[in-house]
Amino acid sequence: MRIGPYQIHAIETGRFALDGGAMFGVVPKNLWNKTNPADDENRITLAARCLLLVHDNGRKVLIDNGFGHKFNEKFSKIYRTDHQHSSLERSLKAVGVKPSDITDAILTHLHFDHAGGSTCKDENGSLSPTFEKATYYVRKEHLEYAHEATEKDRASFLSDDFMPLVERGVLEVLETEAFGLPGIEFFIANGHSPYQQLPIISDGKTTLFFCGDLIPTTTHIGIPYVMAYDNEPLRTIQEKKRLLTTAFDEQWILFFEHDPNTAAAYVRRDERGFRLGEAVSL
Ligand SMILES: [Zn+2]
Repeated sequence: MRIGPYQIHAIETGRFALDGGAMFGVVPKNLWNKTNPADDENRITLAARCLLLVHDNGRKVLIDNGFGHKFNEKFSKIYRTDHQHSSLERSLKAVGVKPSDITDAILTHLHFDHAGGSTCKDENGSLSPTFEKATYYVRKEHLEYAHEATEKDRASFLSDDFMPLVERGVLEVLETEAFGLPGIEFFIANGHSPYQQLPIISDGKTTLFFCGDLIPTTTHIGIPYVMAYDNEPLRTIQEKKRLLTTAFDEQWILFFEHDPNTAAAYVRRDERGFRLGEAVSL
């Protein structure tokens, strides 16, 4: 798909699994299990899907980068990580791009399943940026929060994912909803984690919204489907309503980072509320 000067590619970086109850909050399992069947440990399969924007001028912008490769066996078992399905490197290669070609790495937020691919470990255990020529971007207040996360969400922030970027001086902090490239701006969502920056890519005719952890799967289009991981679930509900109203009115394409089956789709609306619309192939 093309939007303005950008060629758009969905980049699958792997599959993993999280507790279905935590993913759907107060919604009973007999409802969510129909669309997202749980395994014998109650986990549901999730994508770690990123977005690559290739600008006509050669800039290559990657939005999020999955959970990466730095984890140990215990982590892998808890989250059922699966790189046989896909990996960042293989998916980039399939569209003719190498990690060293990435010029701009936008991080929506610093949770390990979004920013884990930012750094890699060599055989001596030393960490370095995966995208050696890229500038990384995160919202200023979110980085500050990551250093002092609460006991509820501390486990989602792994300093190895972002401190090497800070130390090398390649992590640029953003302070507004603007981004330095045309056709990209941010929707700031605070319910899941403070100052999650979610890209809106638009040329005035076609608009694509990167849902991140505001609407992680198509099932989360339903307003009460809010993750137990969210710090402020009522705020998430307000943000989802605001976003989905605009997305429906203006016919935006929604891009789902974690949905195992659907990468992108429109939203529709009926008397019962917002619903998944027609799928879009990127
Ligand atoms: Zn998150």
